Amino acid sequence: ILPLSLLCGLGLATLYWHWRKLAYAMPQRLKKALQRREFTPYYQPIVDAAKQQVVGYEVLIRWREKGRKWVSPSEFIDAAEDSQLIIPITEQLMEQVLQDLPLLPPKTWVSINISAIHVEGVFLETLLARLHWPQPERICFELTERKPIQDFKQALLHLSALMARGYDFKLDDFGTGYGGFAYLQRLNIQQIKIDKMFVDHLTEEGSQTLLHGIISFGHQTTMQMIAEGVESPEQVRLLGELGVHLIQGYVFARPMPINELLKWQLPNSTN
Ligand code: C2E
Ligand code: CA
Ligand code: CA
Ligand code: CA
Repeated sequence: ILPLSLLCGLGLATLYWHWRKLAYAMPQRLKKALQRREFTPYYQPIVDAAKQQVVGYEVLIRWREKGRKWVSPSEFIDAAEDSQLIIPITEQLMEQVLQDLPLLPPKTWVSINISAIHVEGVFLETLLARLHWPQPERICFELTERKPIQDFKQALLHLSALMARGYDFKLDDFGTGYGGFAYLQRLNIQQIKIDKMFVDHLTEEGSQTLLHGIISFGHQTTMQMIAEGVESPEQVRLLGELGVHLIQGYVFARPMPINELLKWQLPNSTN
C-alpha cells in the first residue's frame, strides 16, 4: 500500500508541476507573440437576412505561434486578460483592422471583442486616440460578462464618453451570465448578441422558452439583436419569424482572413 500511495503522490506532483509550467508559460508566450506580431484578425460577416446584405463583421483573433500550431482563443484569452496583456494584444489587432477597413464595403462596420478592463479605465479611449481611429460609426465593441466589471461607476463614465462620441457597444453572450440585465441597465447598452447556446435550442421542441423570453425582452426594450452561432437556414427562418434578422454564423460564413473575405460573396439565397 505504502509504495503505491507514494507512487500516486509522485504522479500527482508531476502532473501539478506540468500544469503549473503550462499555466505560467502563457504570459511569456503571449509576450513573445506580441514581439513577433503573431496575432491576426479574422472577420466573420454579420448579415441582415431580411435584406440579404452584409452589415458588419466580427473581428475574431487568431494566433499562429512560431514552432507550434494555431492556438485557439479559448486557450489564451483568459490568460491575456489576467495578465492585462489583452491591452497590447487588442491594440495590435486593431492596428491591422484599421489597415483593412478601407477595403471593406463603405457602409459596413467592424465589431471588436473587448474585456472588462478596457472600459474600467481609460484603456479603450487611449487606444482609439493613439490609433487615430477615423470613423466611430464604423466600429463597435462587444463586451462580455465573462470577467465581471468591478467598478460600474467608472465603466459607465468611460462608456458614456465613448457613446457620446458615436461608438457603439454590444453585450456579448447575452443570457449566459448572471448579470446581463444589470449590465444593460447600468451601462446603458442598447445592443445584444444572443449566444449560440440559445440558437442551438431553436429547433428543439419545448426548449425555446428562454430564447423567446430574451427576444421578447429585446423587442420591448428596443434592443438591436444579433444572433450568433447560426448554422442552418431553418434557424435563420425561425429567428426571422421571431423578428431577429441580424445573423452571424456558419450558415453564411466562417471567420476568414482579409484576403479570403475580399473574395467572399453572400450567396443569393440560404434556402
Ligand atoms: P464570441 O465572442 O462568442 O465569438 C463567437 C465564437 O463562435 C467564435 O469563436 C466564432 O468563431 C464561433 N462561431 C461563429 N459562428 C459559429 C457557428 O455557426 N457555429 C459554431 N460552432 N461556432 C461559431 P472563436 O473565434 O474561437 O472565439 C471564441 C471566443 O474568444 C469569442 O467568443 C470571444 O469571447 C473570444 N475572443 C475572440 N477574439 C477575441 C479578441 O480579439 N479579444 C477578446 N477579448 N476576446 C476574443
Ligand atoms: Ca463576440
Ligand atoms: Ca458567444
Ligand atoms: Ca463571447
